[in-house]
Amino acid sequence: MEGQAGRTVLLCNGALPRYAPPMHSHAPVVVPDSVIAELRTLVGAENVLSHGHELLVYECDAYTLEKHLPGVVVLPRTTEEVAAVVKLCARHELPIIPRGAGTSLSGTVLASTGGVMIALTRMNRILDLDVRNRRALVEAGVVNALVTQAAKPHGLFYAPDPSSQPACTIGGNVGTNSGGPHTLKNGVTTNHVLGCEVVLPDGEVVWLGTTPDGGEDVPGYDLRGAFIGSEGMFGIATRVLVRLVRAPQAFKTLLGIFESVDDASQTVSDIIGAGMVPGALEMMDQMITQAVEAAYHFGFPTDAGAVLIVELDGLAAGLEEQSTRVVEICRRNKSREVRVAKDDAERAEIWKCRKRAFGAIGRLSPNFLTQDGVVPRSKLPEIMRFIRATSERHGLRIPNVFHAGDGNIHPLILYDERDPAQVKRAVQAGEEILEKCVALGGSVTGEHGIGVEKADMMARQFTPDDLEAMKMLRRVFDPAQRCNPHKMFPGAKRCADFAPRKQIAA
Ligand SMILES: Cc1cc2nc3c(=O)[nH]c(=O)nc-3n(C[C@H](O)[C@H](O)[C@H](O)COP(=O)(O)OP(=O)(O)OC[C@H]3O[C@@H](n4cnc5c(N)ncnc54)[C@H](O)[C@@H]3O)c2cc1C
Repeated sequence: MEGQAGRTVLLCNGALPRYAPPMHSHAPVVVPDSVIAELRTLVGAENVLSHGHELLVYECDAYTLEKHLPGVVVLPRTTEEVAAVVKLCARHELPIIPRGAGTSLSGTVLASTGGVMIALTRMNRILDLDVRNRRALVEAGVVNALVTQAAKPHGLFYAPDPSSQPACTIGGNVGTNSGGPHTLKNGVTTNHVLGCEVVLPDGEVVWLGTTPDGGEDVPGYDLRGAFIGSEGMFGIATRVLVRLVRAPQAFKTLLGIFESVDDASQTVSDIIGAGMVPGALEMMDQMITQAVEAAYHFGFPTDAGAVLIVELDGLAAGLEEQSTRVVEICRRNKSREVRVAKDDAERAEIWKCRKRAFGAIGRLSPNFLTQDGVVPRSKLPEIMRFIRATSERHGLRIPNVFHAGDGNIHPLILYDERDPAQVKRAVQAGEEILEKCVALGGSVTGEHGIGVEKADMMARQFTPDDLEAMKMLRRVFDPAQRCNPHKMFPGAKRCADFAPRKQIAA
């Protein structure tokens, strides 16, 4: 049937098979009209989206290779509403897909089989800022950057700072155990979430970890730790208790300009090897530097092989000495120049450019695939050479901007989705790069999660026994496996298979 926008669409009208656990049928699920009506009663009609054009926004996340519409999107405002919606879905055996801002880069919020998407974006209040105990209680839909904004007047901040922080939510950060440029020194989400309130897949509400009125030590298994990074498969976080840390007294932000990525990579290893842990250690190669410069006009040298951003932070006393040592290390590795940000405004400008780097890619290509792998820092030169060779082998451009200090690479594979052969090569190039990461002793993800994108890659890193142990843990939280189905485990990809839109609810 031809849809309004001229695409071929399939109407969801009850003719499709009902969802039935165990999963992996990959057949689209119909959310009956009666359930949609009940959802409207539970959360208010204004918080339920079920028309085709409304659902389009939710057909994918920032991994745009695969698209699938949910049957309905619900936007609850309280934990009680989330629990009521989840119970209704449990009664009707419908899949549920927890969603924050949908900035995931690996298809972690793809509605692989349709179902009920529960988006937390209207649960966006900071409930308590406990300055004395340096923590904040927030609803899961609060945007990451707003926590730091609220804490800043008190000399505190929320440390995990994904580059998407003006948009992504704390609940989504919990789902993917997010990192960011400054997590090299400060640690990732799991190091800064003390506890969270969770609606389990059967609708029961529990607290995992520290409760808002509790101390930091909690006896028993660390279920909070198990939940963080579970990609929405263990339940829905509704409130999160986060740690706030004291803002550094001073910063020193340096730009090392290098002729080659190899020299910049060696500098990264040498800085850490010298016993220093900068707040951030980020790299941009030539292609991304050129795109960033064209977009934001900071003054980055567009003929350099690589630019290294080294940010030192802490007590003002001692920063100068560390900075001198960093400059020496850069020079030893043949840096062409080392610039120091002259004031806070210039520092902010550097970070604005770095954090918006993905946005500059629009100048280079209609589509890109952001890969996310990890290698031991000392292997950075080798993986960067491999990425260059992969780019040539597949005839695709691959710029790089990444958390070099963590060995966390982000090759951006440029392609044009109108050319199926290119799409295939882009996917293959991504897999080859991740395989190489594993071969070098690294991992198939640093911070973006597995989702549908890298589900098959899990088998390259983990044994069948490892995977079965993970599945067993999942079944403890969600015996029916209805919560964010078809993610993370091999075989998930089959349900979407780079198909364009498969269904649009009337
Ligand atoms: C330009 C750009 C830059 C990025 N930079 C970084 C970076 O530096 N570091 C980094 O780690 N990531 C980065 N990302 C990836 C992404 O922003 C993060 O993974 C982020 O944590 C996702 O948050 P979100 O609110 O968008 O969650 P979503 O994308 O909506 O969801 C992500 C996952 O969390 C689950 N989830 C969402 N809310 C909840 C909840 N309340 N309870 C349980 N599960 C939930 C979902 O089911 C899904 O599995 C970047 C993305 C973009 C587009």
